Amino acid sequence: MARTADLHQTAEQRLRRLNQRLTSGRVVLLEVLAASDRPVTIPEILESRTGLAQSSVYRNLVVLEEAGVVDRVVTRDEFARYELAEDLTGHHHHLVCSQCGVVQDLPAHPALETALRTAVGDARRRKGFRAEEHRLDLIGVCSDCA
Ligand SMILES: [Zn+2]
Ligand SMILES: [Zn+2]
Repeated sequence: MARTADLHQTAEQRLRRLNQRLTSGRVVLLEVLAASDRPVTIPEILESRTGLAQSSVYRNLVVLEEAGVVDRVVTRDEFARYELAEDLTGHHHHLVCSQCGVVQDLPAHPALETALRTAVGDARRRKGFRAEEHRLDLIGVCSDCA
């Protein structure tokens, strides 16, 4: 996890490219996301801090996503989830529970990353596709729902 001071500085720089500022409302969002070990929904963000307004949380998340500070994680349920951009936190995959919908982070496993590099090479040879990154979701049943 990035140190708070670094996170604020990086967020400020990325927002500045869009002529946006790191407002106090955006700082709160960065803190909530940095404190979470998994992507969170807007209702979860609103529950985690008192005094947040849903409309401004939503607007701020849109701006932070545009600035490349926050990633939106979309699964099959109705709620978008948000996390800090991967380059700020470290490469990981997601575990998506098809029953309760919760999404957990799973740190990248070296053996899997090696296998995926082989698959990326194969995609390039067979399709001429140059992969720059990958996302991997494992869909299944979480330990609470099992
Ligand atoms: Zn579950
Ligand atoms: Zn990976």
